[in-house]
Amino acid sequence: MISSELISWYQSGHRKLPWRETRDPYRIWISEVILQQTRIDQGLPYYNRFIALFPDVFMLARARNSKVLKAWQGLGYYSRALNLHKTSKTIVNKYKGVFPEDYHELLKLDGIGPYTAAAVASIAYNKPYAVLDGNVARVISRLFAIRVPVNSATGKKILQQKANELLDGKRPALHNQAMMELGALICKPQAPLCSQCPLQSGCKAFNTGIELQLPVKQRNHVSQTIRIHYLLITDGQKIILSRRNSGGIWKHLFDFPAIELTTDKKLTVQQLQRKLKNYGITTFERSGSAEGLKHILTHRMLLADYSVIKTGKKLSKLRTTSNEKIVSVEDLKKYPVPRLIEKIIELAEIDRITRKRKPKAQSIRQLPVL
Ligand code: SF4
Repeated sequence: MISSELISWYQSGHRKLPWRETRDPYRIWISEVILQQTRIDQGLPYYNRFIALFPDVFMLARARNSKVLKAWQGLGYYSRALNLHKTSKTIVNKYKGVFPEDYHELLKLDGIGPYTAAAVASIAYNKPYAVLDGNVARVISRLFAIRVPVNSATGKKILQQKANELLDGKRPALHNQAMMELGALICKPQAPLCSQCPLQSGCKAFNTGIELQLPVKQRNHVSQTIRIHYLLITDGQKIILSRRNSGGIWKHLFDFPAIELTTDKKLTVQQLQRKLKNYGITTFERSGSAEGLKHILTHRMLLADYSVIKTGKKLSKLRTTSNEKIVSVEDLKKYPVPRLIEKIIELAEIDRITRKRKPKAQSIRQLPVL
């Protein structure tokens, strides 16, 4: 009953979006991964660019890692891009380029959890699996007036069960897309448009006037703050980038050489001297700096400072480490970097700084405390 009203509403005028015009599991998979944690208006240009660069799973599997990360730049949660790339190779090598139809087989692929597996299985192959994303969770918690936090393990279990019960097993592709559309357009987080909702008569939250109290969410605390001072070391033509090889959310992305600090302390002359000496830098000019740029990650906050260090010595003469790369300032934008580093590049106006006069050498002993 609920499902047929929902589907009729959806069919009467849903938004036309490129991934709704196709049954291609590759395109559906890409759209679902991009749209996790991202609004449609933000995700759409990324989707179009991604598909233009990698129109099928073979092209994605053949691409260089840095090209995939660059296409993802700005979307955050970079492990999603790395998993897309890894899974594309599995699909090509193990499944000869054909996406598995089976939900449980999909779940074995890197980066594919219950939500994405249900979306691909139902939308591409019309298999009866109910999706549960943030929009659907909100609709269901209101429809059934569920007060258990939607982001708790128990809450997810209850909501998934309800989503499964509501699913139209004969039209799962339409049902799932209609549910997500209702959450995005009608059952909005702050101001649900209940007067336009096709499910209003059966909605427990609306009937008891508690729709604005739902869904309940438990808070995820930012557990740790890290202070970091980035050094933009340049000779006026080139700059040093550092590639993140270890795990973590910035794996395989580039940032700048950095000094990690305790939260309440700023960089001292001694710390900077030690760091620059490692490169063999004895004279330099500090051309710009900023402090306290806040960048919130899932469970921690980065407090970032930076200094632009212009050295009279050519960077090729410096001692750099194996994960550092000397790149032309003009090429800086070609490298995949996290949003914070993108912001620092903009703020530091590296292009302008490097076009300025030759550096006036300054001894590191004369460096003021930052
Ligand atoms: S009636 Fe209101 S609260 Fe209930 S599902 Fe519809 S939009 Fe959401």
